[in-house]
Amino acid sequence: MSEVFTNKLLFEHKKNSKQRKTRLDKAVSSLPLNTDIFYVKNIKVLRNKPAGINAFAIYGYHDMQQAAFRRSQGVDNLFHVLHTNVPSVRASDIGERCGIKRFLKSLGITYEIPDERQRIFNIGNMIEEKMIGGGEILLYVDKDGSVLLNGETPFNEYVEQYEILTDKPVSRGRWYMAKVKGKKDVSWLAEDGWVFRHNYGDKEGFIYVIFDNQGRGGVLTGHYDFILLKPSNWDRITAGQDSFPVYTGEENSWVMCDVKTMNSRVFAKICSSSIAVQKPEYDIQTLLYQSALPKGMNVESRAVFAFNKGVQSDAVDPEAFCNKEYAIFPFTERFQHIEEVIEKAYSTLAKQSPVDLDMREMDTQFCNWCDYKDDCMNVLIHMTQADTDAIEERYVRPKQEGVLRELKKCVRLISARTGKELDVEQLTQQLVQQAQQKNNVSAVIER
Ligand code: SF4
Repeated sequence: MSEVFTNKLLFEHKKNSKQRKTRLDKAVSSLPLNTDIFYVKNIKVLRNKPAGINAFAIYGYHDMQQAAFRRSQGVDNLFHVLHTNVPSVRASDIGERCGIKRFLKSLGITYEIPDERQRIFNIGNMIEEKMIGGGEILLYVDKDGSVLLNGETPFNEYVEQYEILTDKPVSRGRWYMAKVKGKKDVSWLAEDGWVFRHNYGDKEGFIYVIFDNQGRGGVLTGHYDFILLKPSNWDRITAGQDSFPVYTGEENSWVMCDVKTMNSRVFAKICSSSIAVQKPEYDIQTLLYQSALPKGMNVESRAVFAFNKGVQSDAVDPEAFCNKEYAIFPFTERFQHIEEVIEKAYSTLAKQSPVDLDMREMDTQFCNWCDYKDDCMNVLIHMTQADTDAIEERYVRPKQEGVLRELKKCVRLISARTGKELDVEQLTQQLVQQAQQKNNVSAVIER
C-alpha cells in the first residue's frame, strides 16, 4: 500500500521536476561558467585572530541565470567552481561525527548514489516541496495591500529602515496575509497559516571563509530552506499546546527552519529526548544558516520541521501524508556554538593529508552505513605512513596559494548594492580594520 502510494507521489514529483528542467533547457547565459557569480548582501566578521583562525561569513544570492544554465547542463551545484577548487565543506556535512569522513568529503571525494538511497532523497525533496512549496511564489501584504515581501526577491530589500551598521533589532511592517501567485497547490505550511519565506531554488546562500595567517583553511557553504515569521503563540506550539500559528501583526522576529523527513523510529527517539541530542548535525546546520544572516534580520530561533514517513525509510505512510503530519522540533538550548563549529571546520579544511589526521577524530558509530569504507581503509593505512611521497594523490590536498587567492579565482563577489566587483583580499583587510576599530567582531561593511 505504502509503496504504491509513494511511487505515485514520486512520479508526480518527477513530472514537476521534468517540467522545470524543460524550462531550464531554454536558459542561456553569457556569464563565465568557470567562476561562481555571487551577489553579496552582507559580510560579518565572526572571528579575527591575527595569529590564529579568522572567519567571516558572506551572505548573498546566486546569479539565477548562471544557475539555470548550469542546471540545464546537469550541474546542480550552485557553488560548483568553489567546491571543485577550494577546500570546502557543506553546512549539512560539517556536523558529520567522523573526522575521517569529513576530511574525505572536504577533498571532494564522492560516489555514485545507489538507487535505494536516491529514492530516499527523492522522497525528502518531494515532502519538502509539499511542505514549503515547489514553485508558487508567496506574497505577503500589509493592511493596505502593499507587498511587504515577495518570495522572488532577496529578503532584506524589503526590510525598511534596515540599518546594516548596527546590530539593533528593527521593527518591521505588519504582516497581514499570504497570497499565492501561480496555479500550483498551496504548500502545507501556507495552508496552515504560517507566514514564511521559502529560499526558492536555493537562491540565497552563504560562504564562510575560514583561514589562518598562513593561508590554510577553506570555505563552508550552504543554503537554508526557509525562514518563518515567529507567531505570537510559538512557545505554545513548540510545547505541543497549540497546533496552528496565530499572528497578531506585532511579530518581528524569525525562525531559521529546515525540513527533514524521517522514519518513525528516529522520530520517536527525537520526541523522547530532543533534536539537539539526537541529531546534533541539524543543530550545527541551522546554526550556520542563522549565524550568516545579518543580525538586524532578527532570525532569533532555529527549528526543524519534521515529517514522519512511517515505519519504512523508503516509503511514505498514506495516512500521515494525507493528514499532513509534520512536527516542529525547536532548538531550545544552544548546544552548539558558532566558534566551536568554525574551529571544527578549520581543523578539517587545514589538514593536508592522512598523516595530519588523528585517530581520536574517528567515530565508528555509523560505519555500517558509511560509503567511505574503502577510502577510509586506505586512509588508515596512510595515517602512519613514514614516506609521505607514497601516499596516494587522491588523499592529498593539492597545493594552494592560500584561501583568499583561490577564492578570488573561483568566485566573483559582486556588491548587491553597487553592482561593483569586490576584491576579497582588500575586503578582508578592511573588515579586519573595521572590526578592530569597533572592537566588535560583528562589524559589517557591505549589504
Ligand atoms: S567507515 Fe567509519 S571510520 Fe571510516 S570514514 Fe566511515 S564512519 Fe568514519
